[in-house]
Amino acid sequence: MDYVIPAPEPASVAVIGQTARFPVRRIFCVGRNYVAHIREMGGDERDPPFYFCKPADAIVPTGSIIDYPPQTENFHFEMELVAAIGTGGANIAEEDALDHVYGYATGLDMTRRDVQIAHREKGRPWDMGKGFDQSAPCGDIHPASDTGHFPKGSIWLKVNGDTKQNSDLELMIWNLQETIANLSGIVTLAAGDLIYTGTPDGVGPVVSGDKMLGHIDGLSDIEITVR
Ligand code: MN
Repeated sequence: MDYVIPAPEPASVAVIGQTARFPVRRIFCVGRNYVAHIREMGGDERDPPFYFCKPADAIVPTGSIIDYPPQTENFHFEMELVAAIGTGGANIAEEDALDHVYGYATGLDMTRRDVQIAHREKGRPWDMGKGFDQSAPCGDIHPASDTGHFPKGSIWLKVNGDTKQNSDLELMIWNLQETIANLSGIVTLAAGDLIYTGTPDGVGPVVSGDKMLGHIDGLSDIEITVR
């Protein structure tokens, strides 16, 4: 294929134990998926899942130093389990949903909280609060064929060694099967899509110089520094 300008390289994530990488097509994020996080942010605890997107090139690998973004004074971490879709589909049944997952990673849904809330209150899209440069740090992907799936397990985040978030994946309101079934009824999922599955409570700000360390039992940690 010829292009009139150089075509961008696809965003991608390293895969544990492989030299080949996971190409990222789209990034879907689940909003308000832990009750304790809804209570700290406000919102209806019985709402069905809802989604927002980040651009694929918002991905940054673990070990990175990310820039404190412009246009915010309240730059927040959200520690999340990331599911990497290996085979797509529409209207995927819950009982088949996990067969579509290639693997899992630790991830951070970095957020301009002040922008997100200001736009939310005006009924505007969340994009500029959520989908900016370097807003989707993602750890290395572990193939599900090695690890199995993650219906439960410790998930925590430390900033400069202090624990800020500490929860369990089993406290998700909508588990991954339900999310994949629901989301694939809205859009056709495709190989390469990532799903950030929502964050537990304890979200908060980071500033320049802070080091975030995120952990999910059974996956490799994610470590990101802000400058
Ligand atoms: Mn999130």
